[in-house]
Amino acid sequence: MKVLVINAGSSSLKYQLLDMDTERLLAKGLAERIGIEGSVVTHEPVGKDKVKFERPMETHKEALDIIMRALVNEQYGVIKSLNEIDAVGHRTVHGAESFASSVVINDEVIEKMEECSVLAPLHNPANLIGIRACQEVLPNVPMVGVFDTAFHQTMPKEAYIYPLPYELYEKYRIRKYGFHGTSHRYVSLRAAELLNQDLNQLKLISCHLGNGASIAAIRYGKSIDTSMGLTPLAGLAMGTRCGDIDPEIMIFLRQHGYTTEELDHIMNKESGILGISGISSDFRDVEQAADTGNKRAQLALDVFHYRVRTTIGAYVAAMDGVDGIIFTAGLGENSASTRSAICSGLTYLGIKLNAEKNSKRGEEMVISTADSATNVMVIPTNEELMIARDTVELVQGK
Ligand code: ADP
Repeated sequence: MKVLVINAGSSSLKYQLLDMDTERLLAKGLAERIGIEGSVVTHEPVGKDKVKFERPMETHKEALDIIMRALVNEQYGVIKSLNEIDAVGHRTVHGAESFASSVVINDEVIEKMEECSVLAPLHNPANLIGIRACQEVLPNVPMVGVFDTAFHQTMPKEAYIYPLPYELYEKYRIRKYGFHGTSHRYVSLRAAELLNQDLNQLKLISCHLGNGASIAAIRYGKSIDTSMGLTPLAGLAMGTRCGDIDPEIMIFLRQHGYTTEELDHIMNKESGILGISGISSDFRDVEQAADTGNKRAQLALDVFHYRVRTTIGAYVAAMDGVDGIIFTAGLGENSASTRSAICSGLTYLGIKLNAEKNSKRGEEMVISTADSATNVMVIPTNEELMIARDTVELVQGK
């Protein structure tokens, strides 16, 4: 069974085609600058050279038309006909309380997703555009929605209710939802396999550290708390996002003349390690600057590590213990210095890192020593595979 996985943003569309009989990737690619000058599709067929198509694309549908032609092209295609695509799995961001697991997309689901758009105005409408474009290009092919928030719907009320007037939850559904759920779910499943233990008996803390970063407490296979909130702005310090701050700061700045739009921009685009370091939102640049003695770059990293470490501590408390800590996503998978800085403050968990294993990049492995009281693992995430697996399960079960 071949599954096309789609991740649609407002002006971009990422795709992967997987052969799910073997869970093998056949091709992946990215359409960028859709509806903007300079639109381009980069198509990477596995085992063949990558190709770029630079041509105007006004809509996601036009981008998908180019992608479909690339997939069946004699030279750089990977399938003979579009009929070989059995199903499409869509990454969908906000499912609010409507979706606690993945779903086959139908009119009712689309309607509910539209309702959820108020909670994710940047993401859900873009996901819906991607779904509609796919429906036009691949009519009659079953489609599945895999929500970033779904995995966290198992959180208990004490974890997701904000200490605000309860009516705000009842009226506007203001609560913690959490994101990166597909990634946290995937790495927790892999962790149990790597440790050769039953997921239903493990207490895991998953650290998804990329440009966007979040941590999840996963007890016996279920998310019981996570650091992002109503929106992906909450929790850790991130590349450009501020994470948790005193909410009164925004009222204070309003009184100093900042507009709501400016404050939104500051918190989402000008804060985090970019804001503190003044250098970059890319951890590689900031690590390099810190290595050459830049104090603000070092401070940005210190703040980041501190927040990760204290959040891990909170989740040890939430689960009354921890068996394994997982590092994943761009920074978690690749930065040995980040992992060691975070773990150096976790001696109370009896953690000992194997320096040689920790120095490896992007390889799935246990990086703690055999006598470490808590396992520490690097597990490269694979949200697309998780989406494709859910898609197969739901489509075959129909
Ligand atoms: P997102 O999907 O949220 O955009 P990624 O998971 O791709 O983010 O992670 C991007 C981040 O990972 C960037 O800040 C980048 O600097 C960091 N990163 C990637 N490779 C390395 C590395 N070798 N060392 C340090 N940071 C890295």
